[in-house]
Amino acid sequence: MKKIWSRILILSLAIIISVVALIRCRIFIYNAMEEQVFDNLKDVSLQNKESLEHELNTTYELLDSIANQPVFINADYNSPEDRQMLINSLQVLSSLYNYKRAGIVTTDGICYSTDQAPADLSGEDVYLYGIQGLPNITGSLTDLLGTPEDINVFSVPIRGKYSEVKAILFVTYRTEHFNERLNAESFDGMGYSYIVDEDGTVVTESPKSSMYGSENVLESIPEFTSDNLPAVEQLRVDMQLDKSGYISVKTPEMRYVYYTPLKATALQKNWYLYTIVPAQVLDEKSETVLYHMNRLLAVIFIVIVVLLAYFIWTYRKDEKKLRTLAFTDPLTKGDNYSCFLHKLKAKSGVSGYMVSLDLSEFKMLNSICGIKTGDKVLKAIWNILSSNLRPDELAAHVAADRYVMFLSADTREELLERIHAISTQITTLPEQLNTIQVQPYFGIYQNSNLGNPEECYTRAVQAKKLAKSDTTKNWAFFDEVDVNKLADEKQLSDSFEKAIHDCEFEVWYQPKYYPSDRTIAGAEALVRWRKPDGSLIPPYRFIPLFERNGMIVTLDEYVFRAVCKQQKQWLSEGRSLFPISVNVSRASLHYDNIVQRYTDIINEYGIHPEFLPLEVTESATINNAQIQGIMADFRKAGFPLYLDDFGVGYSSLATLSLMLFDTLKLDKSLVDFIGDSNGEKLIHYTVKLAKSLGMKIIAEGVEEEKQVSFLQDIRCDEIQGYFFSKPLPLGKFEDLL
Ligand code: C2E
Ligand code: CA
Ligand code: CA
Repeated sequence: MKKIWSRILILSLAIIISVVALIRCRIFIYNAMEEQVFDNLKDVSLQNKESLEHELNTTYELLDSIANQPVFINADYNSPEDRQMLINSLQVLSSLYNYKRAGIVTTDGICYSTDQAPADLSGEDVYLYGIQGLPNITGSLTDLLGTPEDINVFSVPIRGKYSEVKAILFVTYRTEHFNERLNAESFDGMGYSYIVDEDGTVVTESPKSSMYGSENVLESIPEFTSDNLPAVEQLRVDMQLDKSGYISVKTPEMRYVYYTPLKATALQKNWYLYTIVPAQVLDEKSETVLYHMNRLLAVIFIVIVVLLAYFIWTYRKDEKKLRTLAFTDPLTKGDNYSCFLHKLKAKSGVSGYMVSLDLSEFKMLNSICGIKTGDKVLKAIWNILSSNLRPDELAAHVAADRYVMFLSADTREELLERIHAISTQITTLPEQLNTIQVQPYFGIYQNSNLGNPEECYTRAVQAKKLAKSDTTKNWAFFDEVDVNKLADEKQLSDSFEKAIHDCEFEVWYQPKYYPSDRTIAGAEALVRWRKPDGSLIPPYRFIPLFERNGMIVTLDEYVFRAVCKQQKQWLSEGRSLFPISVNVSRASLHYDNIVQRYTDIINEYGIHPEFLPLEVTESATINNAQIQGIMADFRKAGFPLYLDDFGVGYSSLATLSLMLFDTLKLDKSLVDFIGDSNGEKLIHYTVKLAKSLGMKIIAEGVEEEKQVSFLQDIRCDEIQGYFFSKPLPLGKFEDLL
């Protein structure tokens, strides 16, 4: 749920950021384009300004040069003839420059022109400025003569010899003519211009203008909307300061206005040129750009959405795949341990039994019958387990031959009945699949409520280890496990590697004697663990443990190498060598190329294998073709082989016929029979049989004189036991030699 909200949040944030970015981008583009429009507006305006100023100034200069001609200076303006003469010459000027008319105004204010009856202009600007000796250009006036049209009047004073104003020369200029100048093509014909004077009164406007209703723009612009007031204020201030600038106004559409002062000699009032363009121009321009931009964005957006959808889809698919992979056992296609834990955690609070299961001899089954058959057995076991499950119960293949189950039962008896049924089904498998026998072991942990499933499983596994060492049943409950012993064993296993590295393992030697002359025949190497605090740990505390966890392989090789090294030392000291037998555990024999490794070690130290007999217990070799092969290889390599602990447990005379061993070690339990007539018979015949097969006999655990003499009588070859010597540390053993 939390995940969904965080995703929605991220998505919304992404959308908001994109929208903001989009808006900013649009504003940026719009502003950039607006700036461009302003620049254009300014360019157009400055061109118009230049052209207008040129027109005004040249017209003024033309008039001024005419006014300074001698005929005009010297003429008698009271004389009708003179006036007529001047009007005639102005007629030529007027038609040459396409003025509407030209004329003169005499000092009494009467105007004489090329096409008009004399008229009184004494109240007009032409006269009022002219009589003061000033040139002038009027704003647009309506000329009522002929077709009414807008005109502007340019006037210059005509001065006499003494600079006195004698008359005023004027030309009437068609406003239309001005307008043509203002009509410079710009903005696809949408731009237009105004000329206003310093009060804001319109002097003239280009024909397309339609902006301002009344005569005065400073008054008319705010009439559209009061929003325009700040712009008009700026305009008013700038006009007073003779400055150029931009404003945008609503009239009623948005328009951009560039205003700039016009400078001309004849102007008595400042004129301003307004160049105007409707905002529509910008909108049209930007619309195309923004339209394309929007289309592009839409495409990008669609691509992103499609990619995102694709990503989510593949992610989901992969996740599903990974989930199945992570939760499925590749061999059984059923649940694996992770899945088991996962399902179990979901059941928290439910009580039941955690059952750990594995097989004895599975490694052997694999090596004898092949991995494929091994896999077949594992799958068949899985089928048995899963078919025995009730609803709500769980099972999983953990690894190799290890399984776990979570079963429910009202009583332990009921549970054991079910386990027994499963066990029986499993033990009949080898027959069906034609493989060697395997034995399942069950460790059970009863938990009233599931705290930590992993911890429960560990306990079940510990119980299973106990079951394996139990000879009466193939199951055990965790309650039976000696927790202190487990802790002790864990401590030993954990410190093993460091102990090997720090050479904490010592080799002790227990000599073997010839019974006849009671001289030393050899010795057996027996390991001891010297802890850093100086204490000594006897082998029974760690050998069985290391045999279970596989560390014995390392330890056996360590002892073997130590003995080789010692033999070499004795050799270099010039002592005569005795065979020092070394124990090889059954687990070591499973170890790949052990023969090669041991051969390499004796070669490294240059010791002949006859001085390194190997002691192997009988149970290691029974019914195991692979181990028998290894034993044969050891013999071929020249190692004498001692059958250790003969007489314990399953010892059988049948083994003897295998002829793998050259020496039989009678175990203490057999030696202890000496004194009992039946026991003595058993020993006697065993020794006889072994001897007939060409084997030597060594008796172990000999503690009493009478045992020695009995063994001597039955021609036992060597004797090892406390009677002669306990195992000795190196120094003491050397003293003995
Ligand atoms: P084992 O191979 O049967 O060794 C003989 C054991 O009998 C030794 O015990 C020895 O001290 C003990 N013993 C010898 N004579 C007498 C006697 O007269 N009376 C009594 N009561 N005991 C006697 P130890 O040294 O405690 O070793 C126990 C076992 O640990 C060995 O039994 C052997 O199976 C194993 N072990 C010792 N060293 C190694 C080793 O380097 N590798 C392997 N794989 N196992 C080893
Ligand atoms: Ca031994
Ligand atoms: Ca032994």
